[in-house]
Amino acid sequence: MKDEIIISGLKVFAWHGVYEEEQEKGQNFIINARLALDTSQAGATDSLEDSVDYAKVCLFINDFMRINRFNLIEAVANQMARKIMVRFPMTQSVELEIMKPEAPIPVPFETVSVKIERSWHRTYIATGSNMGDSEDIISNAIANLDADENCRVFKTSKVYRSKPYGGVEQDDYYNSVICLDTLYSPIELLTRLQEEEKEAGRERLVKWGPRTLDLDIIYYDDLIVERDHLRIPHVDMSNRDFVLLPLSEIAPYKRHPILGLNTLELLARLKTSFVYTMKEEE
Ligand code: AMP
Repeated sequence: MKDEIIISGLKVFAWHGVYEEEQEKGQNFIINARLALDTSQAGATDSLEDSVDYAKVCLFINDFMRINRFNLIEAVANQMARKIMVRFPMTQSVELEIMKPEAPIPVPFETVSVKIERSWHRTYIATGSNMGDSEDIISNAIANLDADENCRVFKTSKVYRSKPYGGVEQDDYYNSVICLDTLYSPIELLTRLQEEEKEAGRERLVKWGPRTLDLDIIYYDDLIVERDHLRIPHVDMSNRDFVLLPLSEIAPYKRHPILGLNTLELLARLKTSFVYTMKEEE
């Protein structure tokens, strides 16, 4: 199913551009937008509340273009696409084209434009804590992420308790997995999670040692990322029952994009030696 609301040729006078003259005098911009959303509910109820109001989207684009000042239409498009998805939450993805038919180019041309597509991404984040009031720390981090306009917590597993791994003498661990929809890129998400770890007062004194909060990206859509500081799917997830067990609760059939196995199959491969207790059973 691919339902879209399409806005074509929206004309806005605004002040974006690298040159001083563009920022002072302004010029016309033409915007095309395609918003992907499920219109079946609105189709059945015939009610505007069940859809995205395109008049409001047009006004929102007009205001965004006129209130802000950017050098590049790349920046306008990127930031406006995100804001549209935040402001109109039914929107699953946005394609935006921003044209600049009066751009200062010293040869004849019809128009120049930038076209981008942005969407919500479904991610799974593993949480872990074994210092302080772990349950509180984890639920606090989840609430902070949910309050971030670029993130929406879709599901959370229960909190599981497990014995630490790596041989360092320390308290038991508390782990959960959350399903988080985000507008952040993988790197931006990693940075955002690291801020949250910092806020929880995490100190890394010993490798495998105690930590107030650990947040790992397990999956980001079906994307495979191999960079020095970021590997997705998380490289150790398939060996960690404290990740797979909570993950199996909220995404039992989610398939690992490299190994090709779903969460239940990955879990069945592991010979679990740890004993897990549900937090609320203590
Ligand atoms: P950890 O001890 O699990 O918190 O490891 C932290 C480091 O792992 C960070 O500096 C990250 O750059 C790196 N890292 C690599 N892949 C991931 C991932 N998928 N999620 C979170 N951190 C990651």
